[in-house]
Amino acid sequence: SAAALAAAQRRLGGSLGPGGAAWLSSSAGDGAKPGFEQLVGNTRMVRLKFASELTGCDVLAKCEYENPGGSIKDRAALWMIRDAEARGLLKRGEPGVVVEGTAGNTGIGLALASRVFGYRCIIGIASSQSEEKKATLRLAGASLVEVPPVPYKNPNNYVHVAKRLAAEIKEQTGLNTLYADQWDNLANRRAHTESTGPEIYEQAMAMTGRLDAFSCAMGTGGTLSGVAEYLRSKHPSIKIGLTDPCGAAVYRYFRDGQLASEGSSITEGIGQGRITGNMEGFTPDLLHEIPDTEMMPTLYALLEKEGLAVGGSAAVNVAGAIRVAKDLGPGHTVVTPLCDLGQRYASKLYNPSFLASKGLPVAPWLQDQSFQED
Ligand code: PMP
Repeated sequence: SAAALAAAQRRLGGSLGPGGAAWLSSSAGDGAKPGFEQLVGNTRMVRLKFASELTGCDVLAKCEYENPGGSIKDRAALWMIRDAEARGLLKRGEPGVVVEGTAGNTGIGLALASRVFGYRCIIGIASSQSEEKKATLRLAGASLVEVPPVPYKNPNNYVHVAKRLAAEIKEQTGLNTLYADQWDNLANRRAHTESTGPEIYEQAMAMTGRLDAFSCAMGTGGTLSGVAEYLRSKHPSIKIGLTDPCGAAVYRYFRDGQLASEGSSITEGIGQGRITGNMEGFTPDLLHEIPDTEMMPTLYALLEKEGLAVGGSAAVNVAGAIRVAKDLGPGHTVVTPLCDLGQRYASKLYNPSFLASKGLPVAPWLQDQSFQED
């Protein structure tokens, strides 16, 4: 019967039967496209056992680290390049240059996409960024323009340097050039309205038969506002939660109407200081601020109870989803993304001396890494 099929689909995470496998089959579909393009999106969703038991809800996590560049930002990177091609700024098969100011994940997606589509990729980056990230950008063939770390309001901030560089390259070489501008380029938000949002809706409905809330932190804001736009169109009563790290001015903006920053966080890629183009017109229903002292135990719980070593934004998102689940009460379904994996932050989030220097808890298994031979 239909009910039995639905129940079976729920048990199997929605991988069975008519209509239930749409997001699984489509990634294997277009073998005419390069691997990167075939593999962006259609990530799996997992029920987090510990968070679900803690709250009496179904807390579901979207495994965005499964994207080929290792993060949710591959979606934005691919959509921005496709949009530039649709607008004639870049032409597939002709030389072109993609320029962005980025600390990491978007740059990695842009570098991989540029490589396979035949474009040069130039990344403006603050010299203070981790060697792990710079090495990942370089191995994909991106050229790095390293600038001293100065605040956004300084004209020599890496974002402004990248924008000026794009204009100079265009003027001096006449090559097709894209300044990607993930903050104000709405193709970023569209990536999530058109791909992440529909996948979340289908998967949550197949797994639990309902979807009550989606929450996450904001970097550019593309993920939260894009997913919110799609889910609200399907389901007007859904609750959308902004769950930001401490120090995020946008959190205070949505709370008190003022862009002000208080506190700080060791997380990267989230905690925005301004209302970006991708955030315009967006308002959250629920607001939570997650201190690092709550993020770190969540990071450890994900490793200890689920076997998932994720990045800091994923831990903020899961801590936030737990808060949202508690707001709603038992029996609801809450979804949040795991944006990337922990390896990218080995020298910080999983480094006992770094954590101790920040006064943050060190997991027992990180404390003693020595192996005694007898
Ligand atoms: N998590 C990580 C690890 C990221 O790199 C980013 C992007 N800066 C985000 C979360 C935030 O995503 P968005 O830009 O869509 O708000």
